Parts: sequence; C-alpha cells; structure tokens
Amino acid sequence: MNDVPKDRIEDAGSPGRRPLRAAVIGAGMAGILAAVKLRERNIDLAVFEKADSVGGTWRDNTYPGLACDVAAHWYTYSFARNPDWDRLMAAGPDIRAYFERVAAERGVLPLIRFGDEVTRLEYDAAGWQLTTAAGYRDRFDIVIVATGVLHHPNIPQFEGLETFEGAVFHSARWDHDVPLDGKRIGVVGTGSTAAQLTSALAPRSAHFSLFQRTPQWVMPRPNPEYSPEEKAAFRADPAALEALVQQLRSKTLEGYATAVLDYDSPQLAEIERLCREHLETVRDPDLRRRLTPDYRAACKRLVISDDFYRAIQHPNAELVTSPIVRIEPAGIRTADGTLHELDVLALATGFLVDRFIRPAKVIGRGGLDLDDVWAEVPSAYLSVTVPGFPNLFMLNGPNSPVGNFSLIEVSERQVGYLMQLIDGVQRGDYREVSATPEALDRFEAERQEAAKRTVWVTGCNSWYLDKRGVPSSWTFSFDRFAQEMTAPKMADFETR
Ligand code: NAP
Repeated sequence: MNDVPKDRIEDAGSPGRRPLRAAVIGAGMAGILAAVKLRERNIDLAVFEKADSVGGTWRDNTYPGLACDVAAHWYTYSFARNPDWDRLMAAGPDIRAYFERVAAERGVLPLIRFGDEVTRLEYDAAGWQLTTAAGYRDRFDIVIVATGVLHHPNIPQFEGLETFEGAVFHSARWDHDVPLDGKRIGVVGTGSTAAQLTSALAPRSAHFSLFQRTPQWVMPRPNPEYSPEEKAAFRADPAALEALVQQLRSKTLEGYATAVLDYDSPQLAEIERLCREHLETVRDPDLRRRLTPDYRAACKRLVISDDFYRAIQHPNAELVTSPIVRIEPAGIRTADGTLHELDVLALATGFLVDRFIRPAKVIGRGGLDLDDVWAEVPSAYLSVTVPGFPNLFMLNGPNSPVGNFSLIEVSERQVGYLMQLIDGVQRGDYREVSATPEALDRFEAERQEAAKRTVWVTGCNSWYLDKRGVPSSWTFSFDRFAQEMTAPKMADFETR
C-alpha cells in the first residue's frame, strides 16, 4: 500500500481560483477519466483504489472468452481513441491493457493509493472527511464516486455449496490455477457472461453443463478483424478514425438504444426478428424450444453472440433446464433427480447492482446517512448528485444509462457536467453544491413515468429492474441524456 502521493498538482497556475482537493474513489474506467479531467483543471487530487491495479470490471473479470460486446472503437475515451483494436469487439485483456496504458500516459498512476478501501465519508463544515480500512484519514472538498455497478458478485445461497469437492468460483473471481481442458465443467446462469463462457469452454471440456433458469434472447453479431492496412489508415488519419467511431455510435443509438424505450417500436421488432431467426439455427427442436424465451427481446440485457448457439450444440455440451435443488460434493442435483457430476463450477450469476459506493458509510450534511436515504432503492438527481450530500458526485450512479452501448461516453458526459458544478466551487461562486430534494423528486417521477413504455417492464426479471420492479436505469432517450449533461440547471441546485 502506498501513501497518498506527495507530488500532488498544486493549484498555483489558476489565479483567483480556490485551491481544491478532490478524492476519486475507484480506478476503473470512470475513475481514470475523472482523474484525467481533474488534473486538466489543476485540481489537487488523490485516487483511492482498494485493489492493486487499475481497470475496474476489466481487472476483476478475467474469465475465458471475456470480451466487450460494444464496438471497441466507440468504447474508448474521446481524448484517447485507439486505432489499433484488432476486431470490431475487443477481448477483455486488450481492454484492460488500454485502461492501464491511458492511466500511465495521463499521469494518473502516481496519484492512486492502491490496496486500501474507503470505508467512511463524512461531511462537515470543513468538507469531506475520508477514512480507509487501514485507518488513513484525509480531508477533501470534492468527492467523485467511480465505484462501478457490476462490482459485487451475486453468489446464490445454494444448499450444500460449501460441500462441493471440485473448484467453485464466481465468474468475476476466476481461479486460473484450476485446469479446464478435459474437465467436467458446469456454469450457472445464461447472461452475457455465461454465454461467453459457453462459447469458450464447451469445446475444451470433457463435458459442459449450462444450468439455465431462464432462456435469453441472443442477438447475432459477427466480429470481423481489422486488417493491418485499416489500422495503419486509422493511425495516419484521426479524422477517419473518428468517423468510424461516430458511425458505430449512431448505429447503436438509432437501433438498440431507441428500441428499448418503446416496446412498440419498429427497431425492437427488428431486433426480435433477428433474434428469432438466429434461434432457428438450433437444429434440435427440443433444445430450440428450451432455449426460447417467453418474454420480449431486449427485456433482459441482450446477449450478443455469434457462437453461443453453436457452442451449446457441441457434442460435449448440455443445456440443463431442470432447476437446481442443491449442490453435493460431486456436483449439482437438479429437480428431476439427476446428479450432474462436475470438476469445476462457475457461477455466472451476476452482481448486486444496488451497492454503488456502499458498503462504505456515507454521512452527509446534518448526519444524513446514505443507507437511510437509499433504504428502499438508490436514487440520484440525473444519476450524479444526491440532495444533502454536497460536492459528492457519482459516475454511473443510480439510474444512469446502461445497455449495449458505450459506458465510456456516458461517463464522459457525466464528468463534463459535474466539472461545471466543480468550476463554481473553484471560482468561489459557492463552497458547496447539491441537488434540491424537489429536483430529485421531479426527475424521479418523470423517469418512472417514462419507464412505463420501456421494454424492461414487459414481463421479465433482470438486473435492470429494482426491487420494486421499476427500471433502475435512464428511461429517456440518449439524446435527452446528452442534452441534460450539457450544462447544469442551477435552479435545481442548492448552493452555499
Ligand atoms: P446477469 O446478466 O445478471 O445474469 C445472471 C444469470 O445468473 C442469469 O441467467 C440468472 O438467471 C442466473 N442466476 C442468478 N441467480 C441464480 C440462481 N439462484 N439460480 C439459477 N440461476 C441464477 O449476469 P452476467 O451474465 O454476469 O452479466 C451482467 C452484466 O455484465 C451484463 O448484463 C452486462 O451488462 C455485463 N456484461 C457485459 C459483457 C459484454 O460483453 N459487454 C459481458 C459480460 C457481462 P435469471 O435470468 O433466471 O435471473
């Protein structure tokens, strides 16, 4: 563990500006971005990262077959486009390497305190008092929470899980010491992770069992390689590279992102048609029937894969649809009485998506406890600020846009917005700023009203719904998100 870096950037070059200190929590995609943007403003900052390297979800997830199903050239920072992606959709290790490179090149690495977890944030007249698990304490004017959404593994409490004699782990905690070739492998789940695992592992195993509770719609998408000539052309001509990014972006925003907002839209009908056509490639009618969802396509997050159906039809592979009853020392017992013997069991069972900064304790103005404010469900005005928690800003916070599109663009727009709020503190217009309760209530009412037309509420269960069954994401158009993030409406904020 290192101390908070001594080589902080002083605010000397900004006459008339209040010197500010900022803490960024998390050194994944959004934390690196926030650090870059704070540095550009000469704000003194420290980044707190509980793990020992950067990359967030791309550091945690190392499972076989890991890839990003968002077009790689769009899934980059606008200030660090990458001409060298090998394919339309990049492999996980390449994405992790990209974040490590940007963090190094932009001078973020020396600002990070690795290996210590922020456990408490408490606001008083002097700002935010930050405390870590190791007992380190420091004070900051600004806190940016960049702790991610898909971070805390969801481990189902299967009876007998602890008795399993093979290797068992969550997909985001892959144990690379465990041999896979020629083994009997079981994967629980049918989300994007399980689909990628199936494609990667079915051909390598002695026997592969996919334990499905709910079938998923699978959208086909080829993943062509970029030739050396194309990469050279992108390197030589940044405008051509940017044109590619914009083309990939428009295609997704006009298609998927529009489809999910209106369950009667022609775009959604088209996605459904493609998914049904894809399903027809499953030859065995019984397997095809068991893989057929009984809800609308894109209600759960779309699985994007060109090879999942091929993999589940591999001679080694078996789709298990009888429910899991318990785990036994030798494998999984299902309701039909079968014992599925396994050497390796991977739980691709998703994440607890309502944690955000928690389990850290966050105490705002007047002793307000974030756990109480979020007792029912988490919420934040425009996903970035919570009333009563001044100068505490969230990236990819509650109800932020999620889906099959670039979360980097989402984070960049959020950072651009909150930097304008921070500018006001730096200029001395106010010392603290947070959304008013009225602004949050109005936003939430409107957001929930818009949710009624979305595909997410058409009769499936997914991590896109909160425990009330309300979509926990941005339910307006992406254009509106971009518009809202252009500039803060100061009437919606309380400043002191
Ligand atoms: P997920 O989409 O939440 O899927 C979890 C799976 O586990 C579901 O099939 C669920 O079944 C199953 N499950 C959970 N508890 C279970 C239980 N007790 N018994 C049996 N089955 C159980 O998780 P994920 O696949 O890890 O994906 C999470 C998110 O990560 C994705 O939606 C996506 O945003 C992101 N991701 C992206 C990529 C990419 O390519 N960009 C790749 C992987 C992940 P039910 O459906 O019945 O609940």
